[in-house]
Amino acid sequence: MLQDKDRMFTNLYGYHSWSLKDAMKRGAWDNTKALIEKGRDWICEEVKSSGLRGRGGAGFPTGLKWSFMPKESDGRPSYLVVNADESEPGTCKDREIMRNDPHILIEGCLLASVGMGAHACYIYIRGEFVYEAQILEAAIAEAYEAGLVGKNACKSGYDFDIYLHRGAGAYICGEETALIESLEGKKGQPRLKPPFPAMSGLYGCPTTVNNVESIASAPAILRRGADWFKGFGRENNHGTKLFCVSGHVNKPCNVEEAMSIPLKELLEKHCGGVRGGWDNLLAVIPGGSSVPLITKDVCDTVLMDYDDLKENGTGLGTAAVIVMDKSTDIVAAIARLSYFYKHESCGQCTPCREGTGWMWRMMQRMVVGKATVEEIDMLWEVTKQIEGKTICALGDAAAWPIQGLIRNFRPELERRILEARKNAA
Ligand code: NAD
Ligand code: SF4
Repeated sequence: MLQDKDRMFTNLYGYHSWSLKDAMKRGAWDNTKALIEKGRDWICEEVKSSGLRGRGGAGFPTGLKWSFMPKESDGRPSYLVVNADESEPGTCKDREIMRNDPHILIEGCLLASVGMGAHACYIYIRGEFVYEAQILEAAIAEAYEAGLVGKNACKSGYDFDIYLHRGAGAYICGEETALIESLEGKKGQPRLKPPFPAMSGLYGCPTTVNNVESIASAPAILRRGADWFKGFGRENNHGTKLFCVSGHVNKPCNVEEAMSIPLKELLEKHCGGVRGGWDNLLAVIPGGSSVPLITKDVCDTVLMDYDDLKENGTGLGTAAVIVMDKSTDIVAAIARLSYFYKHESCGQCTPCREGTGWMWRMMQRMVVGKATVEEIDMLWEVTKQIEGKTICALGDAAAWPIQGLIRNFRPELERRILEARKNAA
């Protein structure tokens, strides 16, 4: 289990004040000037060698992403954009950082911006996070007042401005290019990639979009060193990580743990175990609603990291662990998710716009068994017509939970169909 001294998020539960004075007592803004003076290349290389992978869900190496930002200016400014549009069902970690420890995020924004040669940062915060937006605004004002950001930030000679922008409650605006469109004042619809934002992002300028947790991890990594961060987790899966555990555990919680912790250990040590005991476990969605579920036999041994979850047919995603015990109507649960994706599809590409509606309608019939056994194969086929054929990852995210259901719970789908037929006869 992670020791308290190794935690980066020391006020995750809000036991202390978020204010600058208290954040400084916890180590924030401690000689940030010296870190800035080590220079852009040092910051970028240190984050690269720490092995930090994007904490927003995709797990792309953070330092590598920063290194894509142009070294030579062609007259266009560079931007850091922080994705604080946390909306993935089950995910509630960035909210706690912004609510309880906003200064580590603001300090991370400055250090990351130095690491990629940006002098301006936009934090795009989910519209529903009204309280968190108020706190961030106040914390940003404190940082300006103290000379930590703004002209000659931390007396380092580096000019840096930071802006908070509130979204309007669309899940798709968490997709980085839809977020950029929305920030530009347009309808939030994803762009085709490439070009990736590092080439052409906000206002057509070089931009890096990073998740809140990724950026908030940077100060601790730079202060304690890449080797410290690499000391946690397995090769290619390093660091400490916030896990959000919800559903049928005795104590749902957010917790910072070492990457690669076994799922069973995570649930038993921090969440009081599965309701009714481990044998009462039916399935777990390990990384927010966009990844397929895994059944108990996989949960017995799987490690909570990018590679082991991938090898087991799912993903770490946002590390939002949704636990379902045997009382769960698993077909209804996945049907509810398919409604969510139908509702949130931006409608821009046909397989997603039409397919999410198809999947939801078929799933509704599967819930009550008013389908044929052949339709299970048809539903599978519809998911395959969407997967990999859309502009953004929402199409895949809508298809994968249903694929996970069919792969693991086909007998349950068939049982409902046969039972409904028997009752109708
Ligand atoms: P992605 O793999 O397309 O991209 C990940 C990041 O790496 C992006 O910033 C992208 O620009 C960059 N990148 C990837 N390939 C690159 C290349 N060749 N050159 C330069 N940059 C490159 O994934 P995505 O669509 O950004 O994210 C999908 C994930 O988001 C899902 O797996 C899901 O878990 C997660 N998600 C999170 C939330 C949330 O609330 N945090 C909500 C929805 C989805
Ligand atoms: Fe919009 Fe869906 Fe296409 Fe993404 S996959 S661009 S959400 S229609």
